[in-house]
Amino acid sequence: ENLSNQIAAGEVIERPASVVKELVENAIDAQAQHIDVLVEEAGIKSIRVIDDGVGIPSAEVLKAFERHATSKITSRHDLFRIQSLGFRGEALPSIASVSDVVLQTAQSGAHEGRHVHIKGGEVLEERGATARVGTDITVEDLFYNTPARLKYLKSQATELSKIVDVMNRLALSHPNVGFRLVHHQKEILKTAGNGQLQQVVAAVYGVQQARKMLTFNAEDSDFKLNGLTSLPELTRANRSYISIMINGRYIKNYQLSNAVVKGYGSKLMVGRFPISVLEIEMDPLLIDVNVHPQKHEVRLSKEAELVDLIEKTIYDRISKENL
Ligand code: ADP
Ligand code: MG
Repeated sequence: ENLSNQIAAGEVIERPASVVKELVENAIDAQAQHIDVLVEEAGIKSIRVIDDGVGIPSAEVLKAFERHATSKITSRHDLFRIQSLGFRGEALPSIASVSDVVLQTAQSGAHEGRHVHIKGGEVLEERGATARVGTDITVEDLFYNTPARLKYLKSQATELSKIVDVMNRLALSHPNVGFRLVHHQKEILKTAGNGQLQQVVAAVYGVQQARKMLTFNAEDSDFKLNGLTSLPELTRANRSYISIMINGRYIKNYQLSNAVVKGYGSKLMVGRFPISVLEIEMDPLLIDVNVHPQKHEVRLSKEAELVDLIEKTIYDRISKENL
């Protein structure tokens, strides 16, 4: 049983950043307003995620660590129709199979919370706990029992930068949630959770940068766009500084990010890219998730139309600036 979880972990949990992503997505799914992520040694030693979400019912805490026991949807096609980010019920069992996990959780109104300690997939302790509403989970010694995985990890600087990337993307796609990322007592990211995309952009890219960004929005019968994009002369960025969210979910799609670049026309210097954050709202039925949902790649039925709308919107907005 733990072996099959370890095998699943090989797919879902590649590195500390994958643990952060899965745990924070669970907190978002639990409707947390504030999510604190505390990391030691780039997450290899310890990752702690504290949320103020709805918590897990005491009777279901152990079930949350059983594979597929909690699958929220049945088909991949449903992915963009449901509210939750998780859907396979694989993350917690996978993580617990390759690390040392302590989870404490309580629901609002409960007299007691629940505390559980699981190491290498084995339940070491389960007992009552204080009733602080929300979930507090700590993952220590990731890959302690899978040395090949551990060896595959890069330097701490690289692993930490991947955690920062994940947090930035989650923060940009959830302006309503206040995120905090702390590494060795040092605060790396803090967002207000006030619903303002501009505030998140300031937290991620700096206040100076955020002030200089241009806001844009557009709408047609199929799509609603809104976002922020930097002036071309300020760009220090590469293509990865173009963040695209569809219906509140971070996605990757080359044609769409390229549409932003094309919108600059000749105003964008060769080899330069803007910093852009683009929120798209559309009918979920027009979206199909590619083979591997972990990779965030999506296919769209009306992609060419959306590409045109993005390109034109950026073009019009940049043109107004008289550069
Ligand atoms: P999935 O998110 O795909 O359902 P996970 O393995 O990530 O599967 O989590 C299993 C279940 O544990 C979730 O479906 C949810 O019910 C519960 N859970 C996990 N983390 C939290 C949390 N932070 N707050 C509330 N419930 C949680
Ligand atoms: Mg999950």
